Amino acid sequence: MKKHNFSAGPCILPQEVMKKASEAVLDFNGLGLSLIEISHRSKDFVAVMDKARSLSLELLDLQDKGYQALFLQGGASMEFLMVAYNLLEKKAGYLNTGTWADKAIKEARIFGEVVEVGSSKDKNYNYIPKGYSVPTDLDYLHLTSNNTIFGTQIKDFPKTTTPLVCDMSSDIFSRQLDFSQFDLIYAGAQKNMGPAGTTLVVIKEDILGKVSRTIPSMLNYKVHIEKESMFNTPAVFPVYVSMLTLEWLKNLGGIAAIEEVNEKKARLLYSEIDLNPLFRGYAQKEDRSIMNATFTLTEEKLKGVFDEMCKEAGINGIHGHRSIGGYRASMYNALSLDSVGTLVDVMSELERKG
Ligand code: PMP
Repeated sequence: MKKHNFSAGPCILPQEVMKKASEAVLDFNGLGLSLIEISHRSKDFVAVMDKARSLSLELLDLQDKGYQALFLQGGASMEFLMVAYNLLEKKAGYLNTGTWADKAIKEARIFGEVVEVGSSKDKNYNYIPKGYSVPTDLDYLHLTSNNTIFGTQIKDFPKTTTPLVCDMSSDIFSRQLDFSQFDLIYAGAQKNMGPAGTTLVVIKEDILGKVSRTIPSMLNYKVHIEKESMFNTPAVFPVYVSMLTLEWLKNLGGIAAIEEVNEKKARLLYSEIDLNPLFRGYAQKEDRSIMNATFTLTEEKLKGVFDEMCKEAGINGIHGHRSIGGYRASMYNALSLDSVGTLVDVMSELERKG
């Protein structure tokens, strides 16, 4: 039976990417060798890294604009500290929109003063703070564009001359934005890109070199840029799969094309959540994420029946994060409209059964 994979991450990837990736594990480029048993310095793999980096910039429309793309290790969590290590001299601003933003704040405090310019902690992060002011003396302002756990997403980014750093782990490549408003973007691969194990970091080069501390090589963005993301052995398989996914997205028509599908999926699910009296959305409507929809049952006693119906329909991975409970349906790029339709059918069937 077809599985409908709503997992929050690691998550669904395009089938054709999986197929090509599995073939490359057995025989890469007809070399008679596996992708994962050749040198990362071989010309075949260097071409993969180059392509993954250039496709990232191309899809974000950041080519020839002073940006560099890197594929690093340590997950998005490593970027929580690398950002501060490389950019925080005195004071940084953070918008606290959830668990991940909070973790980023905790790491940054090791390196300097951190001001929370806004926080939605008062309502267990079910909204995006608005109307906050950005102090003029910040080294950077850090935002989390999509809050994977709570299902909120920033729709309007602050207009400021302060350098903007954005954790886009769970919505990169999913919607059109003017990406040049950001000075640094990072995203763990395991949502819209590839398997866990690599993190895309896109940096405007001229923001680097401004802190006075000595930065260890592995944590130094400049070193990674100089070495073209090959300072040490990169995560060859995750980078390869990311490259394949970026190619898939480009062939589909890029971010503009996938955004249309993503909006359709989100509209379909949210309208069921709003119309079906058995369900209630968690996030405030105007801040709803098009990637992660969070909702609860209005009658807890139906949980067993609903869970069983989902299981029978092949629906996987919709249990909410332990910090908010309920349900979370993640609708990343590779999830089809048909899968969302299946979930919506089950939800309306539950209503009919009453
Ligand atoms: N930021 C966001 C928005 C996330 O969703 C996650 C993981 N789900 C992280 C950071 C942490 O990522 P990692 O596990 O790659 O360190």
